[in-house]
Amino acid sequence: MFKLSIVVPCYNEEEVLHETTKELSQILQELVDDEKIASTSKIVYVDDGSRDNTWKLIDQFTIDNKFVTGVKLSRNFGHQGALLAGVTTASKDSDAVVTIDADLQDDVHAITKMVDEYIKGAEVVYGVRNNRDTDTAFKRNTAELFYKFMGFLGVNLIPDSADFRLMSQRACEILLSYHETNLFLRGIVPLIGLKTSKVYYARKERFAGESKYPLRKMLKFAMDGITSFSIVPIKMIMGLGFFIVFISIFLLIYTLVQKSNGHVVSGWSSMMVSIWALGGVQLICISVIGEYVGKIFSEVKQRPRFTIERDTYTEEK
Ligand code: UDP
Ligand code: MG
Repeated sequence: MFKLSIVVPCYNEEEVLHETTKELSQILQELVDDEKIASTSKIVYVDDGSRDNTWKLIDQFTIDNKFVTGVKLSRNFGHQGALLAGVTTASKDSDAVVTIDADLQDDVHAITKMVDEYIKGAEVVYGVRNNRDTDTAFKRNTAELFYKFMGFLGVNLIPDSADFRLMSQRACEILLSYHETNLFLRGIVPLIGLKTSKVYYARKERFAGESKYPLRKMLKFAMDGITSFSIVPIKMIMGLGFFIVFISIFLLIYTLVQKSNGHVVSGWSSMMVSIWALGGVQLICISVIGEYVGKIFSEVKQRPRFTIERDTYTEEK
């Protein structure tokens, strides 16, 4: 029988943790009773620098519940960093690792199906949602557009699958050999290869609390970007470039009209338009290059992608 670990990133999730612990340990107990997984299987909560009682709760569950262990990050590293910290810790001695959000939006019963797929030989099992009823029309449409655009750019994503999946120990090791700082796990996982499979589930509303990705947080990220990573100004230059190209189109029409009325000195029209058009095109090109230079800037520093303050998963042994 194999050891399964369920990695759960948590950021200010005190409202949901009781229910999450109840449901996840119930699933683990069922799997243990069915003799599918070892009784040493674990839930690994990763506290991503929460400011509420999340860590206190995790600490308490560690004592009360034989399945629960916790990893406390030294500060908030974001969802992807927290996932990576959990996978790094758990994959050291687990045969398979499941990652799932703390808010119970993903159906915990799909874990049983994932385990069955793993037993049948799959090394990466994606949780794919088969409805988007709980999303707003805005989120549905932007998500669809996003997947289409990424496909157009040649990035292979599994549509409608987020960060709910099972990976074998070997798949985790391959995942961890990708060292990029700009983490986008759902883009990297398809690059692992190996035998993959999918299980379908219905995505629900958040059990309690609110989304930890509010607009405010995204805007804050943008501000952080300006001060520490300086990619946002490049994006602004790109916008300026497009604006200027737009002006040049307007000028083209304007000068053509003036020319047809015979109001201009010869050569003026072509000069006007080419100055603006070329200026705009150049700004766009520079900003695209700048985008990549910015990425290299953040990658080359090789800052740690997470730092662990406490780790009761490893301490336990
Ligand atoms: N999360 C995290 N660090 C963060 C933000 C979120 O670990 O900085 C966790 C959060 O606790 C949850 C998961 O990432 O378990 C997904 O977040 P959420 O449910 O708020 O996102 P949504 O489902 O609204 O996209
Ligand atoms: Mg959620």
